[in-house]
Amino acid sequence: MTFAAHVLTLYPGMFPGPLGTSLAGRGLGSAWTLTATNIRDYATDKHKSVDDTPAGGGAGMVLRADVLAAAIDGAPAELPRIAFTPRGKPLTQARVRELAAGPGVVLLCGRFEGFDERIFEARGIEEVSIGDFVLSGGEVAAMVLLDACVRLLPGVMGAPSSGDDESFETGLLEYPHYTRPVIWEGRTIPEVLRSGDHARIAAWRKSMAESDTRSRRPDLWERHEGVRVQPASGAR
Ligand code: SAM
Repeated sequence: MTFAAHVLTLYPGMFPGPLGTSLAGRGLGSAWTLTATNIRDYATDKHKSVDDTPAGGGAGMVLRADVLAAAIDGAPAELPRIAFTPRGKPLTQARVRELAAGPGVVLLCGRFEGFDERIFEARGIEEVSIGDFVLSGGEVAAMVLLDACVRLLPGVMGAPSSGDDESFETGLLEYPHYTRPVIWEGRTIPEVLRSGDHARIAAWRKSMAESDTRSRRPDLWERHEGVRVQPASGAR
């Protein structure tokens, strides 16, 4: 199955951009397809307007619901719809995995002050944020989401198992990596990794993943521990 990405944007020329290189670029056209459509193509007035002033006053411009709706209705109806907003649900590896397992996605990129609120419910759109900061537009957010999805598609990532231990896949951050030279600027690769003892290496990696997650991302650690503890306490 080919993953179909449909991006609705005021700047279709930004695509594929970085998605045209490396892993994602190699899979483009086979593992996945990309259609970038200009929202302005769906404007109906003679000025091709896509935005208007905010109701109630204030700075900036707001993307019009009628134009957005026409653009969305022009995309495949069977695909999930995502709009990028700073207030949206934070993007997670779990959501990326769900999307990558599906037929594709329609991505709506905001500009200016964002979208007319009515569009979300009217067209069943999920709002997604890529972090607690404000971008100038949703295009880079769309690239982030697509890059994360595309690398999970069958045949895109070099070694099929190389994603299994990665950060967030197990609910933990990944353990640290090293490669030759063994001693570099007086720093030595931990002895265990040079021991050839696979059981010891696995135990070291697990313990490093746990301690790194606990110290760097206490929020993830708490969730991980919650998930681990729940089945035991529920199984009376
Ligand atoms: N007025 C909006 C607010 O304060 O929440 C910010 C609008 S921003 C300048 C323009 C567009 O960039 C948004 O409509 C959205 O599509 C995108 N964007 C900005 N920050 C984002 C984020 N953290 N995650 C996802 N999309 C973002």
